[in-house]
Amino acid sequence: MAGRDGDAPLDAAFVLEWIRELAGQIREQRDYLTQLDAAIGDADHGINMDRGFTEAISAVPHAEGRSPGDVLQAVGRTIINTVGGAAGPLFGGGLRSAGKRLGEQAYFDAEDLLAAMRAGLESIQGLGAAAVGDKTIVDAYVPALEAFERELRAGGDLASAAARAREAAEEGMRSTIPLQARKGRASYLGPRSVGHQDPGATSTALLFAALERTARARLAVTEERP
Ligand SMILES: [Mg+2]
Repeated sequence: MAGRDGDAPLDAAFVLEWIRELAGQIREQRDYLTQLDAAIGDADHGINMDRGFTEAISAVPHAEGRSPGDVLQAVGRTIINTVGGAAGPLFGGGLRSAGKRLGEQAYFDAEDLLAAMRAGLESIQGLGAAAVGDKTIVDAYVPALEAFERELRAGGDLASAAARAREAAEEGMRSTIPLQARKGRASYLGPRSVGHQDPGATSTALLFAALERTARARLAVTEERP
């Protein structure tokens, strides 16, 4: 059953593949993310995120000798130190908290990942004090985690849970368009923030899209085994 193979233990290499995939997607979407930020922020989100994730990949060139949690913490620290504005502490802090939650264990599963991502969300909400509807990262992150958990409880594997999470994150991302921002720099615009998609929610959708692609790639490799 694909479901069983899809539940194969995940390791530090998986986490690094996820971060590399995310870095690649951010690179591809860099100008788009910056355009979104130009509409309601200070036009640097794509540039900053690309710089941060490029730096993170060179800071963690391989996963050998690291636990999955250690990889996430190292990436998170690099993002905090290199990404300007609010995005660095929010995305970097979220990844670092997720890594701390995974701890020093060499392997983890989809349930551990759910718990880790919840810790990441708590960090983001602890720092930004944003709720769903404020036109932030949280508008994509919260429904993504809910969809991820729902799929796991229904018996889905990591790849299908990540797919549901990505869909929900994209829906949440689009839901920010008609909203008036209540947190972050965009909130200074008041009603003029309406009609624009939130850049942070867009990057959050990429985080889950990268997870889906990495999980599917891992599943394909697992299924090739005799
Ligand atoms: Mg900005």
